[in-house]
Amino acid sequence: MVMRKMTLANKLLLAIVSIILLVGLVLASFFVFRHPEAGMDEFAVFAVFFVFAVSALSYFVFARLITKPLSLLNRSMDSLSQGDTDLRLDLHSRDEMGMLAESLNVIARELIQYRDDMEQCAKSLEEEVRKKTSEIIKAQEHLINAEKLASLGRMAAGVAHELNSPLTGIVTFSHLLMRRLPPENIQDRDELKVIIDQAERCSRIVKGLLGFSRKTASESSMVNINTLIQNTLALVKNQSRFYNVHFHVDLERNLPEICVDPNQIQQVFLNLMINAVDAMEERGDISIVSRSVEGAEGKMAELEFADSGPGIPEEILGRVFEPFFTTKPPGKGTGLGLSVSYGIIKKHGGEITVRSRKDKGASFFIRLPFRVCRGE
Ligand code: ADP
Repeated sequence: MVMRKMTLANKLLLAIVSIILLVGLVLASFFVFRHPEAGMDEFAVFAVFFVFAVSALSYFVFARLITKPLSLLNRSMDSLSQGDTDLRLDLHSRDEMGMLAESLNVIARELIQYRDDMEQCAKSLEEEVRKKTSEIIKAQEHLINAEKLASLGRMAAGVAHELNSPLTGIVTFSHLLMRRLPPENIQDRDELKVIIDQAERCSRIVKGLLGFSRKTASESSMVNINTLIQNTLALVKNQSRFYNVHFHVDLERNLPEICVDPNQIQQVFLNLMINAVDAMEERGDISIVSRSVEGAEGKMAELEFADSGPGIPEEILGRVFEPFFTTKPPGKGTGLGLSVSYGIIKKHGGEITVRSRKDKGASFFIRLPFRVCRGE
C-alpha cells in the first residue's frame, strides 16, 4: 500500500472540521443546559445536522479556495522539477495563490528562455568545434605535404648537386669532340649529337631540380605583379598552341609592388599556363585574377589561374607538386613544372595551392606577401 503524505491543505481541513465538531459539541451542551425539557432525540438530530451542514460548507469553500490551487501548484512544481518548462498556470485569483502562480509562470518562462539560450549556445559551440576540427585537419595535411615536399627537395638537391658537375663535363667535352670530328664523319657526328642532346636534357632536369630545392641564385627587385602577368600573356599569346584559348583577365588596380625575382615568378606563370593549355588540349578558357587579400601575416597578393579543362582527379590532387610526378606521356612531361613553381613561391615567402573539381577545371592560387626589397 502506498502511503500518501498528508498535504498541508488536508491538515488544515482536518483542523477546521475538528474545530467545527468542537463548536458543535459546545453549542449542543449549551442547548441542553438552556432547554433541559427538550428530548435527547431532538438534540441529537439538531447536533448531527448542524455539524454535517457546517462541515460540508467549509469543506466546499476550503477545497475551492485553498486545496485545489495548492495541489495544482504542487503538481506544477513537480512537473517543473522534472524539466517540463512549457507549463502555464492560470488560477484567476488576485490573492497570494494567484501571485504564487504568477511567480511560477515567470520562473517557467525564464527557464524556457534559459533552455533556448543553452541549446543555441550548444549548437554554435558544436559548429565552432566542427569548423576548428576541419581547419586543424587541413592545416595538418598541409604541414605533412609541405614536410614531404621539403624532404623530397633536400633529396633532389643532393642528387642534382652530384649530377651537375659530371653532366657539365659530358656536355663540354662532347662539344669539344664535335669540333674535332671531321665534317665527313657523318655517322659519328650524328651519334655525338644524340649524346649532346640527351646530356643537355639531363642538364635541364637538374637545373629544374635545383630550382625546386631553391639552390639557384635569384635577383629580386620591386615588381608590379600585374605588369608581370601582362608580359607573360604577351609571351604566350604569340604561340600557336594558345591561338584557340580565350583569356579572361581581371587584375586589381593599384596592387602594391612586391619584392620578387621577376624571371622566376614569370617561370611560375608560364608553367601554370602551359599546364592549362595542355589539359585543355589547346582549346578553352583561362582566367587570371589578381587581388589583395588578408593573409595570416598581413596583406598579400593573391593570383588565381583557372582553366576550363577536365580538372585534376582527386586521387592525384595531393601529388601534383611532387618532383617527377606527371600524367603526361613520356617525352612531353618531366613532372618538374609544378614542383619548381612550388619551390620558387616558397622561396618568396608565399604559398601555392590547387583546387579542382571533375569537369570544372583546375584553379591554382598563389599568395605572395607584399615584401619590400632590402635597401629600397
Ligand atoms: P608536367 O607538366 O611535366 O607533367 P607538372 O609538375 O607541371 O609536370 O604537372 C604535374 C601534373 O599535374 C601534370 O602531369 C598533370 O597531371 C597535373 N596538372 C597540372 N596542371 C594541371 C591542369 N591545369 N589541369 C589538369 N591537370 C594538371
